[in-house]
Amino acid sequence: SRGDQDMNIVIAGHVDHGKSTIIGRLLADTDSLPEGKLESVKETCRRNSKPFEYAFLLDALKDEQDQGITIDSARVFFETDLRKYIILDAPGHIEFLKNMVTGAARAEAALLVIDADEGIQENSKRHCYMLSMLGIDQVAVLVNKMDLVDYDEETYRKIVADYTEFLEEIGMEASSFIPVSGMEGDNLASLSDNMLWYEEETVLDLLDSFKSQPLPENKPFRMPVQDVYKFTRGGDDRRIISGTIESGQVSVGDEVVFYPSGKSSTVKSIEGFNRPDTDTIGAGYSTGFTLDEQIFIKRGEVATLADEKDPHSAARIKTNLFWLGKEPLTKDKEYHLKLGTSKVKARLEKIERVIDASDLSQSEDKGQVELHDVAQCVFKLDSAISFDLANELEHSSRFVIVDDYEIAGGGLVEESLEDEQSWV
Ligand code: GDP
Repeated sequence: SRGDQDMNIVIAGHVDHGKSTIIGRLLADTDSLPEGKLESVKETCRRNSKPFEYAFLLDALKDEQDQGITIDSARVFFETDLRKYIILDAPGHIEFLKNMVTGAARAEAALLVIDADEGIQENSKRHCYMLSMLGIDQVAVLVNKMDLVDYDEETYRKIVADYTEFLEEIGMEASSFIPVSGMEGDNLASLSDNMLWYEEETVLDLLDSFKSQPLPENKPFRMPVQDVYKFTRGGDDRRIISGTIESGQVSVGDEVVFYPSGKSSTVKSIEGFNRPDTDTIGAGYSTGFTLDEQIFIKRGEVATLADEKDPHSAARIKTNLFWLGKEPLTKDKEYHLKLGTSKVKARLEKIERVIDASDLSQSEDKGQVELHDVAQCVFKLDSAISFDLANELEHSSRFVIVDDYEIAGGGLVEESLEDEQSWV
């Protein structure tokens, strides 16, 4: 579970456009750095006769984390009066994709950084395309390094106009644009005297205005089965079906159906892990329950409720994915597809179209999907899995593709297809 006051944000954008500088500055301006950190980094710079950069703060924190001094290795925090922000890895990084898809950490909002001097670049667009695919629609666009363009309003307006056009093409809308300088701290924590033509909100104000995304408790119940524990109580052999609830809720007495097997039973008890026993539990919690009857359930199935919408089950699916693998995705290789807790062998059967998210150009089947491509394609699986479709229940439509033990791509299931031919 996560604290209701925390918000996960992701900072995206082309390399060198100033992401680390902006984060460093936000940490400093919100007093979120460990005591003495700012001074010690400045001192190190002085000793090495190199100019201090806010981006170094991030490196210094990461070094500490690598040495195990801070608890949480992949994340950086800063705090406003309203809440705590957790900054996740950037899109384009496998780690981010993995977190988003597995639900380990889901971004609720994004800061997208564009260098005012260099202008919109490939990854300014690609990253945003990924964010929109993953359903992140609270996106603030920060036009950074305004100091390098003499705080010129025209330069800013031109980038806003061009980028708005791109967003419209992909059916997205930015929550706001803000002209900033990460280096000088303009418009981050307070409005800048250098840009009197801009008098709307600061980056911190904007972040505080973002809404926490409610956990999908009112959607159909979905709990991918993580494990089945056997234990004995009062001489009875019992099993606890455990997992993390992705959506909906479940109560004692509910009839649960597991897919793809279709086996069903009634919930007898809900077992609290580190929390009081309860009769009802919902989205976001790791939990376990026992059943009235002993039915044999395996990891990889998904628990649902009999009186709610069924998931789809199929061994052939149409998907929309982005590829981050160094090796292209090809038809002559066997991959693994992971969705929820299921993991099956997968073969690419057909590429319907490939989109280059940096210019939105489309091509038909090129025979393979290359690094950074977005593709609509059909996968054939070695056995049926259960899932929902992206336009129905996004959380349980997300999957990753594993190429030789490494996650190389991910996306959403768009259609459940009939089986046309067998696996081999
Ligand atoms: P990242 O790759 O997006 O994390 O970019 P960095 O934060 O590492 O910044 C790349 C370079 O741009 C560094 O040399 C920064 O000092 C510089 N930079 C970042 N923000 C600004 C800014 O607002 N103004 C100026 N002049 N330089 C900046």
